[in-house]
Amino acid sequence: MNIGIFGGSFNPIHVGHCILANVLSQSGLVDEVWLTVSAQNPLKSADASLERHRLEMARRAVEQCERVNVCDVEMSMPKPSYTIDTLNRLSQMYPEHRFRLIIGADNWQIFDRWRESRRIVEHYGVIVYPRRGYEMPCGVEGVTAFEAPLIEISSTQIRESISRGEDVRFMVPDSVYDYIKKNKLYG
Ligand code: ATP
Repeated sequence: MNIGIFGGSFNPIHVGHCILANVLSQSGLVDEVWLTVSAQNPLKSADASLERHRLEMARRAVEQCERVNVCDVEMSMPKPSYTIDTLNRLSQMYPEHRFRLIIGADNWQIFDRWRESRRIVEHYGVIVYPRRGYEMPCGVEGVTAFEAPLIEISSTQIRESISRGEDVRFMVPDSVYDYIKKNKLYG
């Protein structure tokens, strides 16, 4: 199968992530999208339990999406995990699949700074989706521009809203909303 790797911290996963993953999974460009949840950087947060919560929220969010799965491979890799290492590891683990990377146009703009970016493009291939204010690639070999809908929402916005006591219903899937409430996250 062709698998699209969509990585992030998903802290928390929100409807922008979910819509993108679902639309891409049905685009014909890939057979499945795997949301690859990044490991908690121990230097960034004292709360290592967020790693477990981020994974669990991602799993709950896409539970009903047949072609979208959650991948936790980075949790057991040396940190920080570089995307090239993740792609190499996945290819070793699943030689029957072909992996491609999915990134936003914001990341595409700085992609040449990513470790082994050229190898990622040449060996794996990249799918780029629009982000407001950033140019899409055009005519680059190994790179596919995909016109996904733009949904202006971010995890930072959600964390900040919750910490101000605001209600974030509809910004995250219901199952994630309930999980955040039950576990009193970001309060
Ligand atoms: P934060 O606000 O904490 O930086 P985020 O909302 O940008 O988080 P990430 O977990 O960093 O979310 O995102 C994972 C991937 O999803 C990144 O490649 C990011 O560019 C992309 N992404 C984030 N928000 C959206 C959105 N609204 N629509 C499409 N892609 C998004």
